[in-house]
Amino acid sequence: MSMAKTNRKTDRLSAFHLLAKPTGAACNLGCKYCFFLSKKNLYPHSSFRMSDELLETYIRQYIEAQNISHATIAWQGGEPTLMGLEFFRQSIHYQEKYRRPGMTISNSMQTNGTLLDDDWCRFFRQNNFLIGLSLDGPRELHDAYRVDKAGKPTFDRVMKAARLLRKHKVDFNILTTVHAANMDHPLEVYRFLRDEVKTEFIQFITIVERDNDTGFQEGDNVTDRSVDPEQYGRFLIAIFDDWVKRDVGKVFVQIFDVALAAWTGLPTGICSFSPTCGTAMAMEHNGDMYSCDHFVEPKCLLGNIREMSMAELASSRKQREFGREKLDSLPGCCLKCEVRFVCNGECPKNRLARTPEGQPGLNYLCPGYKEFFRHIDGPMRFMASELKQGRAPANVMNYTKDGQISRTIFKPKRNDPCPCGSGLKYKKCHGRAG
Ligand code: SF4
Ligand code: SF4
Ligand code: SF4
Repeated sequence: MSMAKTNRKTDRLSAFHLLAKPTGAACNLGCKYCFFLSKKNLYPHSSFRMSDELLETYIRQYIEAQNISHATIAWQGGEPTLMGLEFFRQSIHYQEKYRRPGMTISNSMQTNGTLLDDDWCRFFRQNNFLIGLSLDGPRELHDAYRVDKAGKPTFDRVMKAARLLRKHKVDFNILTTVHAANMDHPLEVYRFLRDEVKTEFIQFITIVERDNDTGFQEGDNVTDRSVDPEQYGRFLIAIFDDWVKRDVGKVFVQIFDVALAAWTGLPTGICSFSPTCGTAMAMEHNGDMYSCDHFVEPKCLLGNIREMSMAELASSRKQREFGREKLDSLPGCCLKCEVRFVCNGECPKNRLARTPEGQPGLNYLCPGYKEFFRHIDGPMRFMASELKQGRAPANVMNYTKDGQISRTIFKPKRNDPCPCGSGLKYKKCHGRAG
């Protein structure tokens, strides 16, 4: 997620997003697709623990750099809970110490959940943490890749964490990676998360894992664990078709929200689907700040917050160029693409394919996104139109069948404006013959 506003006088970002990694790449699990464990090699002999002095510097600088009335502190890893509860209690103490009058601060944490207990959950609840819990679907699909260091399955431990979070009424989202092992089971995954985990917020994260020895975003080959692009499109379509018939307004799937924002003409709020990026950075356990969580590699090191302020690093020319490059490097077929308004070529880390003309820089997931965004056009237009007219997008559930606006239940006259909000006559839009 990115939030960026520029103060034109100083050319400083007045707000940005930063993922803090207090344990660096240290984690108690050994997920087979983990892109972060290899970052340990960047810091040989490190203890992978953020010091108390750096914690205070980080909180102070981050709050000072946010020239807005609300700040979100985002914790990630590796596995952040390895720091222990005291570290996070101390972080709340520093947040209170440096909070400006009238400013509100919230915390979010992405965790594998395996170390959570009642004390952690009480702390999360008391301090309004929003938790992102990683869970890849039912047991066999989750355990395919999400294993501990000994190669043992983790499903039961994660489900226990979900129960604890619910028991303590902690806000949590489920983060589900989509990969070779679960991509053929969209409805199994979705209905399990909805009906058994009973989550209302789901975020899908694609596994596009480069096959190389560096662990950096290099090379054109992907591992066998990576999601297949076409299948990813079918995965999203199957879930969308289920969702649009019964779950709109009840279950929030991040990519559907992104799409609705784009169809409504609003910013998506997610860096991957924005025209430019560069306002969502990552900070290692020693204060090194990088352009993005997916580019923790030497060429994207901005500097260390002990030597230069976080605000300066976030506004540096290097970082601005990083963000602009997302747009500048779009290949020709993206520039002409009918769904560019929502896709924007997605994340540069996935741009390892070539266009049909042989131009580099096409997103590996392109075929899937194209198919998916085309498929949802009708219902999205309808929902966007409802929103613009002050009605609930959930009304779409009355008119959809298999992800399409139903022509039998809902039939305007041929010359009426199409209810999808396109501005065209019904006969020229969703009422077209065939
Ligand atoms: S829990 Fe996260 S950081 Fe740990 S191994 Fe799995 S993917 Fe990597
Ligand atoms: S590289 Fe991708 S994940 Fe990183 S900031 Fe840009 S769009 Fe976001
Ligand atoms: S769907 Fe493909 S061609 Fe269209 S903007 Fe996305 S990546 Fe580019």
